Amino acid sequence: MRFTRLRLTGFKSFVDPTDLIIAEGLTGVVGPNGCGKSNLLEALRWVMGETRAKAMRGAGMEDVIFAGASARAARNFAEVALTIDNADRLAPAGFNDADSLDVVRRITRDAGSAYKVNGKDVRARDIQMLFADASTGAHSPSLVRQGQISELINAKPTARRRILEEAAGISGLYQRRHEAELK
Ligand code: ATP
Ligand code: MG
Repeated sequence: MRFTRLRLTGFKSFVDPTDLIIAEGLTGVVGPNGCGKSNLLEALRWVMGETRAKAMRGAGMEDVIFAGASARAARNFAEVALTIDNADRLAPAGFNDADSLDVVRRITRDAGSAYKVNGKDVRARDIQMLFADASTGAHSPSLVRQGQISELINAKPTARRRILEEAAGISGLYQRRHEAELK
């Protein structure tokens, strides 16, 4: 599974549809302060199912919707689409019938978030399962927020253990066991 494209519409400072092609070998995004570099990483985290508004630097989840600027009116929805190359068919069961996965999350003011994979409605929990085993997802240790290193140093041992389990790729097992126990 390889991420190949991130498309943002009305998400934070990206009011107009913006395509980020994630070419092989991409190692950095550079730009002046406030140009939206962190917003891009937040979009990636958000489309993978982030539920904590605080991790998106907002008070509520609707704060990810473009809030308006001097010459532009605020938007009523935000959408992020992530394209995943699944030619190696490494996606979990249930998502493995296509060479490419288009994961879309959209939030509408007063109506909350909805997810689609290849045009079909899915639940937030399905999105978590999609990313649970790949050491990726909204809680991936490979996504490091500005200021997170100092948080890690000051974390309690149980919180630090969760981070290590996520990095070792075993947190998906806990999630599957939990799902199995519910059935
Ligand atoms: P730095 O180099 O300082 O880390 P950065 O490139 O990471 O900067 P971001 O933090 O991604 O910049 O972008 C911040 C910009 O996004 C600010 O100008 C802020 O006003 C804008 N922004 C954030 N949320 C919204 C929103 N909901 N609507 C409109 N603009 C927003
Ligand atoms: Mg930043």
